[in-house]
Amino acid sequence: MSVNVIAIDGPAASGKSTAARELAAAIPGAVCINTGSMYRAVAWKAMRDGMDPAHPDRDRLNRLLETIRMRFVSTPEGCELEVDGERPGNALRTPEVSAGASAIATIPEVRRKLVELQRAMAAEQMIVMEGRDIGTVVFPDAKYKFFLTASPEVRARRRLLQDGGNPDPAEVARVAAEIAARDKTDSTRADSPLRRAEDAVLIDNSTFSREETIQRMLERIQRKMTVMPYRVPYADTDQMGVVYYANYLVYFERFRNELLRDAGYTYRRLEEDGIAMPVIEAVCSYKASAKYDDLLEITGRFAEAKGVKVKIECEVRREGKILVEGYTVHACMDLKSGRPTRPPEFIRELLLKP
Ligand code: C5P
Repeated sequence: MSVNVIAIDGPAASGKSTAARELAAAIPGAVCINTGSMYRAVAWKAMRDGMDPAHPDRDRLNRLLETIRMRFVSTPEGCELEVDGERPGNALRTPEVSAGASAIATIPEVRRKLVELQRAMAAEQMIVMEGRDIGTVVFPDAKYKFFLTASPEVRARRRLLQDGGNPDPAEVARVAAEIAARDKTDSTRADSPLRRAEDAVLIDNSTFSREETIQRMLERIQRKMTVMPYRVPYADTDQMGVVYYANYLVYFERFRNELLRDAGYTYRRLEEDGIAMPVIEAVCSYKASAKYDDLLEITGRFAEAKGVKVKIECEVRREGKILVEGYTVHACMDLKSGRPTRPPEFIRELLLKP
């Protein structure tokens, strides 16, 4: 089962942070995580301790990595990184810390530590994580992957506007050179270089507004995601007062009907077209229980179509937390001949392709 993550990678100032923040706000229960700020925080701490981030003393750096504590706290603007109980805020965004972050991010021990922290953050809820190696290294099996980019000039101009500057051509050229230097360090380093995952959706947003970029990303996600709310009735619970385990397979089936409907189809119409899709495998993994009157959110997608088989993934959440996840595999069958047949065209089209 692929991980519950929306991965956004791309070069500096390509709009990843804004996209992550706005996607997380648009998806119920999702939180956003800006991994660049974690590399910045390591550089900032190392520099405060008198280290040169390009050539730090390895023993001192390792000690720093052993003790450093990071967590993201929700703010009205999205989320903010807290490092060892402090909130460095804009101190992480100076040109010195930006260059230091790129330098320190080439060190494998730093990457190992931060990747471990990043993976632990995704344990329970849907996360939108942005960085350089999220879709390739941190979560290679993320459900949704995007690679954002834009021309160096556009990125420099945006960075200057974001910092409140007044971009004259010389300033733009200077910041574009700074960004290009950072891109070069990031994409040529040996450990986890910046690159697009093969299955990531590429969005060059040089000519898009912020809203257009978000809109395109949401469309790609929604094409893969149907959401079905469900309020648990008494009839679904057992003597322990929780939803009886076998009912989840019924929820999966109800969900599949919605999924087909969202695609402009119904199961009845599929049968009228001469195709049946009997279940040949069902898998359910239980993480927490649901009770009477809980409002559940059932989401999922067509995950795979191979030969005559179609795999449909499904998750059941309460307030963003996953309770149950699983999938069913269906064999497509020609009703007239009773023989296996290829999945209908619309299902193959629905599968997300970069
Ligand atoms: O995204 P942001 O510009 O804040 O990242 C600062 C630096 O941290 C990047 O230039 C890059 O070197 C490093 N980084 C990384 N891997 C990530 C995120 C950031 O190497 N996942």
